[in-house]
Amino acid sequence: MKFGGTSVADGKKLRHVAELVKSYHENGNQIVVVTSALGGVTDAILEEAHEASKEGKVSRVKEFIADLTKQHHAATHESVGDNASTEDIIAELDARIEEIEKALTGICYLGELTFRSIDYLSSYGERMAAPILSGLIRSLGIESSHFTGGEIGIITDNNFGSAHPLESSYEKIKKHLSPLLPGTIPVVAGFIGEDENGIITTLGRGGSDFTASIIGASLNADEIWLWKEVPGIMTTDPKLVPEARPLKVISYIEAMEMSFFGAKVLHPKAIEPAIRHDIPVRVKNTFEPEYPGTLVVKEQKTVQNVVKAVTVIDKVALVNISGAGMVGTIGVAARVFSALADADVNIIMISQGSSEANLSVVVNDDHLKQAVKALKQEFRNGVVGEIDHDVHISVVAIVGVGMAGTPGVAGKVFDALGINKVNVIMISQGSSQHNISFVVKEGDATKAVQVLHKVFSLEKL
Ligand code: ADP
Ligand code: ASP
Ligand code: MG
Repeated sequence: MKFGGTSVADGKKLRHVAELVKSYHENGNQIVVVTSALGGVTDAILEEAHEASKEGKVSRVKEFIADLTKQHHAATHESVGDNASTEDIIAELDARIEEIEKALTGICYLGELTFRSIDYLSSYGERMAAPILSGLIRSLGIESSHFTGGEIGIITDNNFGSAHPLESSYEKIKKHLSPLLPGTIPVVAGFIGEDENGIITTLGRGGSDFTASIIGASLNADEIWLWKEVPGIMTTDPKLVPEARPLKVISYIEAMEMSFFGAKVLHPKAIEPAIRHDIPVRVKNTFEPEYPGTLVVKEQKTVQNVVKAVTVIDKVALVNISGAGMVGTIGVAARVFSALADADVNIIMISQGSSEANLSVVVNDDHLKQAVKALKQEFRNGVVGEIDHDVHISVVAIVGVGMAGTPGVAGKVFDALGINKVNVIMISQGSSQHNISFVVKEGDATKAVQVLHKVFSLEKL
């Protein structure tokens, strides 16, 4: 069971979470708990780290540390109360907070923030949440210990900011956790692992989902439960469309496509480990535990809707490579892709018209600079006339495995967009036909989502 940041935002919510876990434990379940940082803490630490590297103000760090201490102490007192467990938790929190202060102060003086330091610092949100939740569970009379990802065996590559677990992790995790399970509820700090040298890495924003799934797969769990503030995986982001509906059952493929195409409800890699042993993943609302939520399974038996969800990816950029010299010239596309790969740029979407005078790729905002630089370097001697880019765009996608082989879906999508005056800049459909994605101006994205949600009657699901 993984609990997201909003579920453990403060003392009262932490208490609710611990009682929820206790009730499932008392019903005879063996449970591993994965916790996120207290709501907002990861963002706050990251902001502070960037400020420290730019402004170098030690006084600002001191203020931040005071706030962080207050927040975590308050959460502890409010949830655990004042008993034997409280003192131990506070001592542990203070030790962690002292480490953060030292690191941030160091960054103030160095004026440098590496990817490795960012991972080190952002790991602290979860590393402070885990001792609180574990102590709290103990105070309810159940054995519990807390661990970091590295301590239970999540060993990753050293791709800081988006590290991937090594295959050997699965066996290690099983060895560490299985012996504890009969009597104890282990509480694991989500989002983090360690590389082979013991350096802390993170699994990417929202990575606690991934941690839970890795652990579930290692233990061959009956189910992996992700507890959030929403009633499940929904037809679209309820913040964009209030009529969005929770989906009762979806397939692994659909959940993966949705997260690849921007649905922030799931970490994009969270389903991958579950697939290994065909483990059902349940997304549930912490604040409405009786509600069944969404069940993600290998294959859905009966499919009612061809299109199940609409998603948006923000913070992306379109790069256009154009020039009359590209027509009929062999190898331009290959050079574009190798140049981008060599520059570590992840390509989200590709399109080339049959005129061949133009090739467009969509990349993450934060890869744009390196993408343009790499392409200019690659084509410095002609062939390509122009390399331009646009950062004010979004990718919108519709997802549903039922689209494969169903004619007319694309027609319906682009008709509706046309009628509603949403201009489509670029289109792509994978050959799997599980999604159709397209690029619009940033300012048109919400309208596009609302239009499509309505056209496919998703509010009636
Ligand atoms: P947690 O971090 O608590 O696990 P998240 O905050 O990552 O949960 O995910 C829930 C958020 O995802 C919601 O605030 C919601 O606005 C957003 N979201 C975006 N798309 C969807 C979707 N299709 N279904 C549900 N929530 C979505
Ligand atoms: N705390 C991390 C984040 O905010 C990981 C998570 O919540 O899953 O991204
Ligand atoms: Mg999240």
